[in-house]
Amino acid sequence: METRRGLAERFREGLNKTRRAIAAHLEDVFARPPDDEFFDRLEEALIAADAGVEVAADVVAQLRRRAMMGVWRPEDLRRSFREIIVDHLGAAEPLRLDPPPAVVLVLGVNGSGKTTTIGKLAHRLTHERRRVLIAAADTFRAAAIEQVQVWADRAGVPVVRHREGADPAAVVYDALQALGARRADVLIVDTAGRLHTKVNLMEELRKIRRVVERHLPAAPVESLLVLDANTGQNGLQQARQFQQAVPLTGIVVAKLDSSAKGGVLLAIGRSMRISVKFVGTGEGVDDLHPFDPEAFADALFPALGPAA
Ligand code: GDP
Repeated sequence: METRRGLAERFREGLNKTRRAIAAHLEDVFARPPDDEFFDRLEEALIAADAGVEVAADVVAQLRRRAMMGVWRPEDLRRSFREIIVDHLGAAEPLRLDPPPAVVLVLGVNGSGKTTTIGKLAHRLTHERRRVLIAAADTFRAAAIEQVQVWADRAGVPVVRHREGADPAAVVYDALQALGARRADVLIVDTAGRLHTKVNLMEELRKIRRVVERHLPAAPVESLLVLDANTGQNGLQQARQFQQAVPLTGIVVAKLDSSAKGGVLLAIGRSMRISVKFVGTGEGVDDLHPFDPEAFADALFPALGPAA
């Protein structure tokens, strides 16, 4: 298992852009006494990292309250700030895959990083000695089926696939049969990120979920939404839309490494009440990490690390 220190290191590399966007500001801010300008600048730094206006205001209000209660020394302010941030991120929640067989539906708009995430997840679960199967249920684009196949080959995982244009629910149906026949532990389902209309897409996702529920009524089912970290606050809109079709059990924030908007994680934890389960920090097969709020806070605010 990855140690907390190792995780923090990986996050830190992946979060370079976000960190650069705000760390310098924060250093300056925390060099000041907690006066009005201190709080204004702190709020600005959080908004610049896409934490959202509401979250930024709330974090600052909480810190202000602590300052009024006597938290004045810079190191105490830093520690308080970090605590408030970790609190906003919510508790770490692992994937629920036991007892097997389990199903992981992977949702997200095209380009969000869905296929890459599926490949990384398949690799990760295989390393945990789980037998994984993938259903290529984005039948809307032939290229999607091929891409999933490439990632599955990389992870050494079989794929159940039909032709382009086939009924996605039928692919899932076959994959569920194969799951039983092969005594596999986890079925990961790739789903379409776009159809002719949004209504069609949401209807199709619901249908896929119904097929799973009918076949495996007692099985753990995860519905993960993949969000591109670069979409920042717009990601919240996407989450709300998908949530209407399928109850989401977790979020994967992909491309944290290429974004300066890592603060969006703060907004997701708070306004969606859906936990971030993984973050993607690169295009490699190992670049998917279980989300750990403490490690994230350390990576984002290294100068504000936990008190020794
Ligand atoms: P999909 O259309 O949602 O299936 O998206 P893809 O998985 O094909 O990813 C879209 C693009 O984002 C590809 O060029 C991926 O290599 C890239 N990508 C996906 N995840 C990450 C990540 O965590 N970091 C970086 N830097 N790129 C990523």
